[in-house]
Amino acid sequence: MNKGRPPSSEVFFPKKSLGQNFLINPRIRQRIIEACELQPDDVVLEIGPGMGVLTRPLSAAVKHVLAIEKDNFLAPQLEKEFAGTNVTVEHADVLKYPFEQLSAPMKVVGNLPYNIATPIIEKVLAFRRKFPVFYLTVQLEYGNRIVAKPGSKDYGSLSCFVQYYAQTEKLFKIPPSAFSPAPKVNSCFLSLRMRLEPAAKARDEEFLFKLIRTCFSQRRKTLKNSLAVIYGKGETEELLRKFDIDPMLRAEDLSLEDYVRLANQDVSIKPEA
Ligand code: SAM
Repeated sequence: MNKGRPPSSEVFFPKKSLGQNFLINPRIRQRIIEACELQPDDVVLEIGPGMGVLTRPLSAAVKHVLAIEKDNFLAPQLEKEFAGTNVTVEHADVLKYPFEQLSAPMKVVGNLPYNIATPIIEKVLAFRRKFPVFYLTVQLEYGNRIVAKPGSKDYGSLSCFVQYYAQTEKLFKIPPSAFSPAPKVNSCFLSLRMRLEPAAKARDEEFLFKLIRTCFSQRRKTLKNSLAVIYGKGETEELLRKFDIDPMLRAEDLSLEDYVRLANQDVSIKPEA
């Protein structure tokens, strides 16, 4: 394979449908590898290895790499290149891949196809007991939403969902020129360190995220009004008083812990979810 560069355009055109923006900047590649704090006995799951730009340095740094690539042209190329090495290439769709069969622990690394970043993150978080840490490249604006704290414009249900399960950190920004083809937007490199237990634990996680989504779906409304959709007017006032929360605050003013406290309220005033 044409290492580090797209193969000849006669045989390969990057596919938008697979979110193919290949990393071509060796300095950024180096920063990504350094940021992953790899150890010789690590086992790494790489999502979307593409042309192997990250796979090669990963392979040199760790014990084993499992690289899952969906592209019908790139996967067989990778299989050929890495045959007999410490890299196992799986020609598969990561969203359908049976993570339950993977042995733990594995670090997860991926320059993600941006169009399916959310389902990939949801899947990795669902299997968080196997994956102590997930290093990923996403669009900058999306990454900002993942790491956002209360009170900021980027803070929303995505921030709460990911931060419930993981400690998030934006490690650095990546310009469009680092990729080929260059995307229209900036990207960033993040780490998600899985929490063994959430900082504040919800009794019913499904209800917690429903509550959060409801509040943020009307983020300009006061909590008094947005929570009334779930609890009704009277119960909402009682609830906010009980937790000493100003009814004039808005969704972005509450921390994840506040939402957990609300969701864990006394079942006697909890409505049907
Ligand atoms: N890691 C390479 C790099 O940094 O240059 C490629 C990154 S590119 C943004 C995303 C990669 O994910 C592509 O190789 C694409 O074919 C692959 N991909 C897209 N959807 C996938 C899926 N559902 N399962 C596995 N790989 C997928």
